[in-house]
Amino acid sequence: MVQIKTPEQIAKMRAAGLVVAAIHAATREAAVPGASTKDLDEVARKVLAEHSATPNFLGYGGFPATICTSVNEVVVHGIPSDEVVLKDGDIISIDCGAIVDGWHGDAAYTAFVGSGHAPELIELSRVTEESMWAGIAAMRQGNRLVDVSRAVETYIRRQPKPGGGRYGIVEDYGGHGIGTEMHMDPHLLNYVDRRRGKGPKLVPGFCLAIEPMVSLGTPKTEVLQDNWTVITTDGTWSSHWEHSVALTEQGPLVLTAPDGGRAKLAEHGITAAPDPLA
Ligand code: MG
Ligand code: MG
Repeated sequence: MVQIKTPEQIAKMRAAGLVVAAIHAATREAAVPGASTKDLDEVARKVLAEHSATPNFLGYGGFPATICTSVNEVVVHGIPSDEVVLKDGDIISIDCGAIVDGWHGDAAYTAFVGSGHAPELIELSRVTEESMWAGIAAMRQGNRLVDVSRAVETYIRRQPKPGGGRYGIVEDYGGHGIGTEMHMDPHLLNYVDRRRGKGPKLVPGFCLAIEPMVSLGTPKTEVLQDNWTVITTDGTWSSHWEHSVALTEQGPLVLTAPDGGRAKLAEHGITAAPDPLA
């Protein structure tokens, strides 16, 4: 069952999304060489408190922190720690969430720590982010869930990888419905699996977290002994980008983007829905 939201409920999700956007801004500033991932968690905790918002990751299935901090070969679900200190040249994917008035927001980005990153890393993050936007642009009435998966996969596959070979599109994790829970139906693959059919129709009120995870090598992952940290099996570095998106009668609204997705959707020839809180 997909939870279809009213415009009033989407406005509440926008409030949660804006808190997530504020956590992104604050953690982005703090992700510098010498900072520990625990420091970033503390930054996120403070932003949530300032907005009287509740963390949705803390305690989720026993997860011990406010955000996920995934460095280099860690794909997702890295646990913030005093012992993980960021170094010049690292990349980090930071996944953040917030609950406001019972409604959830969830979004992630990859940041470059310090400077001097290899072009292939910069391209990895760019391809992952742009594949997310291609998926967001496919959030339109008349499409089905598979059209979002296809848009993400097609974008990645059309990008030449510096140095040759293929990007690994992570298969073990994907996007999801979001609303009164962080993870709701339907599960959203970042590739097309013909055995799964086309999935539900996208109608106004449909809300999805779209979150491609891409590596420089294998699509295969494994979970470390802490039962959370997901790494690539070949140790290649990976990127993770995510936004929570609502489809409305007036088009997509990117709930966790400060501008509602206006600028990036315009690159796809799409007008973002008006911000209900603006
Ligand atoms: Mg997330
Ligand atoms: Mg998510």
